[in-house]
Amino acid sequence: MTVQTATQAVAKPLAGRVAVITGASSGIGESTAEQVAALGATVVVLARRAERLAELVTRIEKDGGRALALAVDVTDAAAVQAAADRVASEFGGADLLFNNAGVMLPAPIEERATEQWQHQIDLNITGLMNVIGAFTSQLVAAAAEKGVADLINTSSIAAQNIYPGFAVYAGTKAYVTHLSRQLRAEFGPKKVRVTTIEPGITDTELQNHVTDEGAQQWLDGARQQMEWLTPDDIAETIGFVATQPARVNFQQVTIMPTGQTS
Ligand code: NDP
Repeated sequence: MTVQTATQAVAKPLAGRVAVITGASSGIGESTAEQVAALGATVVVLARRAERLAELVTRIEKDGGRALALAVDVTDAAAVQAAADRVASEFGGADLLFNNAGVMLPAPIEERATEQWQHQIDLNITGLMNVIGAFTSQLVAAAAEKGVADLINTSSIAAQNIYPGFAVYAGTKAYVTHLSRQLRAEFGPKKVRVTTIEPGITDTELQNHVTDEGAQQWLDGARQQMEWLTPDDIAETIGFVATQPARVNFQQVTIMPTGQTS
């Protein structure tokens, strides 16, 4: 390795890699797109809000990165497959998938907010599976060729802890955590690392969609009691996980605000 390429490998450890990030129009996904682009990856950003994605791509390109926006609803399996086909034709396939789009709509079960239950299940479980289904063959092919690929799924501390009113959301995230653990058995031998990220409370748009008054009060109280994580805190963790040597697979990373003790 020449001095120049060694310096480049340190400064841009994800150079040559192609990252697909869902839920990239705000919060954790948006911040992670900027982080992995700064580390040298080509990034493909997915979400529904095309304008927000276009602004993100412009920022990444202005900083010398390479990015493509694809406005996709991940609950639409055909649209996700079309996005995967585009990534294959344009960049030769993804080798880093940050499967992150999600929604949190807490409410006591007795309120029977069935539309909100369904919304969370459709996005956090079915949408997540649509993305895994469409991109798995690309990850496996990339790992065979490059020696490593990453599937990083966003779960939540709600997959582990008990929060009254959050049962359906927590259930969808427990699915993500356990699914990821199971997938390591299939993908580890194929050199695809599978990681679950379990953040505690992080200051994003996630909380803006909450309609239940009790849950909103709990969140307001939590905001007063502690300093929340920022999306950049999670993005830096993703960057750290993805830049490890190929033999190192962080299976499950829980990141909490220091003041959040449950
Ligand atoms: P945001 O609300 O800021 O981000 C959610 C993202 O998902 C947006 O980019 C949104 O974009 C996208 N999204 C929503 N619906 C769809 C859809 N149908 N198709 C495609 N994209 C969609 O919240 P966060 O950044 O906090 O959330 C990211 C992940 O982190 C979620 O899975 C969440 O559950 C998880 N998490 C968050 C925590 C927190 O405290 N913030 C804690 C633990 C986990 P658009 O509307 O443009 O489609």
